[in-house]
Amino acid sequence: SVPKEKHAYQSDVARLRKIVINSLYSHRDVFLRELISNANDALEKLRLISLTDKRVWDGSEPLNISIKAVKNEDGPGGRVIISDTGIGMSPEELAANLGTLAKSGTTEFLQRAENSNGTNNGNLIGAFGLGFYSSFLVADRVYVASLPPKTAQNPDPVQHVFSSSADESAFEVYPDPRGNTLGRGTEITLVLKEDASEFLETKKLQELVNKHSGFSTTFPIYLFHQHEDEVPVEDEESPASDKSDPGPEKQTSSADDDDEAVIEEVSDEEKDTEEKEKKTKKVLVDEWMHINPLPPVWLRDSKDVTDEEYSLLYQATFRDFTPPLAWQHFAGDTGSGISFKAILFIPSRLDDKFWSEPLNVPTKDIRLLVKRVFITNDFGSDEPLPKWTSWIKVIIDADDLPLNVSRESLQQTKFLKQIKQIIVKRLIQLLTKIADEDLEKFKKIQQTYGPVIKLGAVESPANREKLAALARFHTTQRDSVSLDEYLENRKQGQKQIFYLADVGKPIDSLKKSVFVEKLHARGYEVLLLNEPLDEILFQNLKRWKKMSFQDVAKAGLKFDLDQQEEKEQQKELSEKYKPLITWLKERAQGVVRDVVISNRLVTSPCAIVADEHGYTANVEKLLNAANR
Ligand code: ADP
Ligand code: MG
Repeated sequence: SVPKEKHAYQSDVARLRKIVINSLYSHRDVFLRELISNANDALEKLRLISLTDKRVWDGSEPLNISIKAVKNEDGPGGRVIISDTGIGMSPEELAANLGTLAKSGTTEFLQRAENSNGTNNGNLIGAFGLGFYSSFLVADRVYVASLPPKTAQNPDPVQHVFSSSADESAFEVYPDPRGNTLGRGTEITLVLKEDASEFLETKKLQELVNKHSGFSTTFPIYLFHQHEDEVPVEDEESPASDKSDPGPEKQTSSADDDDEAVIEEVSDEEKDTEEKEKKTKKVLVDEWMHINPLPPVWLRDSKDVTDEEYSLLYQATFRDFTPPLAWQHFAGDTGSGISFKAILFIPSRLDDKFWSEPLNVPTKDIRLLVKRVFITNDFGSDEPLPKWTSWIKVIIDADDLPLNVSRESLQQTKFLKQIKQIIVKRLIQLLTKIADEDLEKFKKIQQTYGPVIKLGAVESPANREKLAALARFHTTQRDSVSLDEYLENRKQGQKQIFYLADVGKPIDSLKKSVFVEKLHARGYEVLLLNEPLDEILFQNLKRWKKMSFQDVAKAGLKFDLDQQEEKEQQKELSEKYKPLITWLKERAQGVVRDVVISNRLVTSPCAIVADEHGYTANVEKLLNAANR
């Protein structure tokens, strides 16, 4: 027999396997998604390497994934075998890739999973992916046979097997006693646990592929299917016509309105089949079904894609348990002659880290494909997307980018720059469309991305106007008001956009501010700004539709009083209150710059305001915070 090399698992792997086996039972379906995703990666790697080394793959043998369930002949249970014709693994790679935790994400997963006492590990798998170890959710023992392609360094590769059981603390790697049966690639055999027999059913497997993986690979997936068929014993009647009948089972399940009628129908049908059995015999027919035959979602016409398909594609591709908030599916042209199809997704959550991360975070979620072939999701740090869009998830499939474009030369091309501009433009279009057409959805967008939109308007002068139009504010009269809506509601003769800013203050207490009361009493609407970027946005905008912004806590307020009238009234008042003003100025010397009679107050006797060109109390607060 072949000598078996025994390896002890790295301690982390033992920990991980324990978690997998003990606490993820209700999510064990994911094993298939993980194994298909690995097969997909292996096929992508092979195709990428073959661009520069034709010996690895010359384009002639098919690249695909196959799944086969084999029931035990002598009892319950059985095996599920998942194979791919991808890059394969050498014996060293088998030990290194499957026996250690190379992924940094898995280590983080481990820590979180152990801290959470197994209560929400299900969500964690979604976020991190458990990879190969999820095999042990359903299998007592796993065999991985693998054969790498022939290369200059390795002209005669030998197929090896990695073998491990769920309860052992070691794994083995040894030459496959069957020889090089694979041709190339990897074959994973799961010896199913007693309680995992459901995965022997082709229907179940097909359902899982449709749910999780039909979307995450563009390589064909074949499912082995053995079905009973009836063939004629003698050639009496044509069996072809029988085949097209829906069959007894189907008929009974659809006739659900009258029980008695159904029972009768069944007995009729049974008689029928008995009769047929005399002329036919049952045989087992082997068949490989291509179970993901549709072109990938992004290449289809958006009219033919359901919302659910978009959601599933998003969830499978970007590993998110929650469906996206919105998406935009479009075809385009980069302007330098490269046409593409793309889907842009707005996730329903913004990562907690968004506001604390630095400005230039390269996104990992723009998946660039060329003619369905995955090229890269690394858009590099040379030219990251603007911060305000860094959370975006995109699948983009270009038609005629030369396939041999390397990741490095890709960075040099205009292509990426153009793609980034298109993504930003399309995102703004999508947000604008939602704002115009779907109020409910736009509310959700505001809840999550309201401050992000304001950041965009501050960050990007080119898009400032469009994004500022999407920004929403509280006012003394309404919630969630756009600048345009504010202008529509302005009073006749109103020449300024009134606002009061105090970061972090509750809107209710801003409403009670003495600075807004006179305006409010006279029917003017005042924007109430309590988000950090609000006032900075106004300072950047300077004007909106030719109207200037006026901080009601600053001097310079203009009202609709007749100018002559106002002047006279002002004169009268200053005569009348001259002694008081003089007295106040004396008493407050060194504390305030000036004491003046104001026309802005209704019930409060006085207010302390900032100089027109000085800082408001709010900006002073911000500056103090920044200098701390
Ligand atoms: P990940 O896919 O996130 O790297 P996995 O645990 O799923 O983590 O897989 C670990 C590694 O094992 C992969 O990175 C890959 O190198 C290797 N591997 C797994 N499955 C295959 C396969 N079918 N073909 C080739 N290599 C594979
Ligand atoms: Mg994986």
